[in-house]
Amino acid sequence: MKEIDAITIGAGGGAYPAAFRLKRSGYSVVMVDDKGVMSGNCLSEGCIPSKAVIETIHNYVKLRRLKDFRLDYSDIVTRKDDVQKLRYGQHQDELKEAGLELIKGHAKLIDENTVEVKTGNGTERYRADHIIIASGSETVIPGIPGSNYALTSREFYSMNPAVRDVPGSIAIIGGGYIGLETGSFLSLMGSRVTVIEMLDSVLNTMDPEIVEKTLPLLPKMDIITGAAVRSINKDGKKITVEYSRNGSKKRIDVDSAMLSIGRRAVLPEGIDDLGIKYDKKGITVNSAMQTSIKHIYATGDVNGVTPLFHAAKRQSIVAANNIMAEDVPTDYFDPLSVPYTVYTIPQIAFAGLTPGMAKKRGINYTEGTFSMSRDSMAQIFSEMQGEITILFDDRLKIIGGYVIGNDAGNLINEIGLAVSKGLSARDFAEMAHQHPMTFEGLNEIARKFY
Ligand code: ADP
Repeated sequence: MKEIDAITIGAGGGAYPAAFRLKRSGYSVVMVDDKGVMSGNCLSEGCIPSKAVIETIHNYVKLRRLKDFRLDYSDIVTRKDDVQKLRYGQHQDELKEAGLELIKGHAKLIDENTVEVKTGNGTERYRADHIIIASGSETVIPGIPGSNYALTSREFYSMNPAVRDVPGSIAIIGGGYIGLETGSFLSLMGSRVTVIEMLDSVLNTMDPEIVEKTLPLLPKMDIITGAAVRSINKDGKKITVEYSRNGSKKRIDVDSAMLSIGRRAVLPEGIDDLGIKYDKKGITVNSAMQTSIKHIYATGDVNGVTPLFHAAKRQSIVAANNIMAEDVPTDYFDPLSVPYTVYTIPQIAFAGLTPGMAKKRGINYTEGTFSMSRDSMAQIFSEMQGEITILFDDRLKIIGGYVIGNDAGNLINEIGLAVSKGLSARDFAEMAHQHPMTFEGLNEIARKFY
């Protein structure tokens, strides 16, 4: 049994910021991850590789508006692999510099202070005063016949992925952000894309008002809603997806199918015996990131609060700060100010309250909107569709907003910061936002009130 101060289960965004902070503050820390590398699913098959592909294709689309030329998808994939390699290398250096130990192995909770780690060389037990569960999430595979014939984000985005060519046609099962991001770049690369969604709308966790404004701007995709996939069959190279809609059975023949019906928390073994509470979203935590046992924290996708890498990082720091305060909460996670971007082409982003959320909570608000058609950068890139909308409360404090179109993912950060720091229209109005940059739109909106 090794005695340490803290151990993390996982080494992704929910784990390593805390591990680094605690180590710098003199704590003995060990991270354990099945993959044996830092950064979790984000770098192995999630945010980084998917954005390496999508953003390259987005730039390709911008240039192709000037002159048609061909960029092979396999070259984009090679470039994506290079970005992953680069970052894995940097993470190795960071670990070495910090003198942090990352064990390649599988972790299991034994009791409130003991974690057992199974490695290639056997089993070791660690006794730790504090435990951070950051075991992340995994793709949900439905129990329908033939689901093994379908691709998942892994086949598109992992290193040396199975998919190196754009399929002629693809059925994307599940119209969440992963399905629509993948569908929008495949469509722009010439694939015939059909999205099959069980609920009445795609992107159903987002404000319907924002989704309605965005859908007409997305690349051509056939979107079938209210459709439940029953089976996937393979005959030679052809895939047939069968689904039922309005009581009748339908089928579609395609070259490929992709499953993107959601992700679910990966719960480490042992949490039931310890009585750690969880529900179908993940491990239950308070805003100090503590589970029902106060020195055991759960950060990142595993708690399902805000399953985004940057939210996981912030939660990880909150956990570290509270560990350093001997598990008496001094720092808290605020989900409302976390910016959220869907990297469709164009992007959609929001932070804080959206109109639908404000209405549901009975909060009075005033809206300010700026059209991308008037934005200089959007004009430069011929990306003039979309808008920036900011929500202000009665005292003109910024309480949220959303952006559709050029640079949305960048812009939303400033709105998120404004929400988290309680900034007002005046703060945005008095800032000399750079010209020409999309951020000017924020200033334009605020100056309507000043
Ligand atoms: P987050 O961003 O929420 O931290 P990720 O899904 O990116 O989540 O990372 C979680 C990591 O935890 C993954 O690399 C996964 O392989 C690892 N993991 C999950 N369960 C265990 C376990 N029981 N033992 C060791 N590693 C685990």
